[in-house]
Amino acid sequence: MGLDVAWAERWVRRTADVVAGSKDELTELDRQIGDGDHGENLHRGFQAVVAKLDEPGTPERAEVGDVLMLVATTLMSKVGGASGPLYGTAFLRAAKRSARPSVDGSGVVVLLDAALEGVTSRGKAQVGEKTMVDALAPAVEAATTAADAGRDPVDVLRAAAEAADAGATGTIPLVATKGRASYLGERSAGHEDPGARSTALVLRAALDAALDATPDSAPDSTPDSTAGESEAEAVAE
Ligand code: ADP
Ligand code: MG
Repeated sequence: MGLDVAWAERWVRRTADVVAGSKDELTELDRQIGDGDHGENLHRGFQAVVAKLDEPGTPERAEVGDVLMLVATTLMSKVGGASGPLYGTAFLRAAKRSARPSVDGSGVVVLLDAALEGVTSRGKAQVGEKTMVDALAPAVEAATTAADAGRDPVDVLRAAAEAADAGATGTIPLVATKGRASYLGERSAGHEDPGARSTALVLRAALDAALDATPDSAPDSTPDSTAGESEAEAVAE
């Protein structure tokens, strides 16, 4: 089963929800090693993205890339600071590599790899500099391993989300050498990087959006016509 346009839209909406719920946490992280606006920046951006998605009269989106392009252009215009252009470029590159109705496991890798390439070409950070790259790069690596092993797209996203989460946690001891946190030098150590954490949240939202469409994960959403016919399932054993 591929991840389709409906998945991409669910991903965006879930991201907006999770960012809204984590706004204060992200802002607090950024207050410790930056200027305390990361949560607010992303929240403003993703609220604007959802508003665009819901805009009446927009033609139906046919390709995953159409949704990601909308995210890219909106974040670029609505989010300032370092993270706006970085996230914007990430989604822009991902959009260009997902111009099709759905993506499979290796399509997820292509999309994530393009996003990483966008962030690194724009921000010039490498792994270990305490930025969003420290969440995204391990995510690409884990997704690649999963896709190469023939795992389905949901498992590929799971691998990416878990690696990003671990990568974000792994920024805690690092000393920042890029972005605003680098002004603190050694004093940036001991705090999680806000952009790495938000990247992990975005990837977790991608996974959760995919799980939404998996029948096994939604036992309560069985179609009404089969209500009371559960014997059929018992027999199937
Ligand atoms: P600003 O730093 O301008 O206030 P935000 O607070 O929204 O912007 O975002 C800060 C995050 O941006 C950091 O936590 C870091 O993950 C990310 N970041 C900053 N500079 C870079 C860079 N050169 N490359 C990659 N990510 C970066
Ligand atoms: Mg900031």
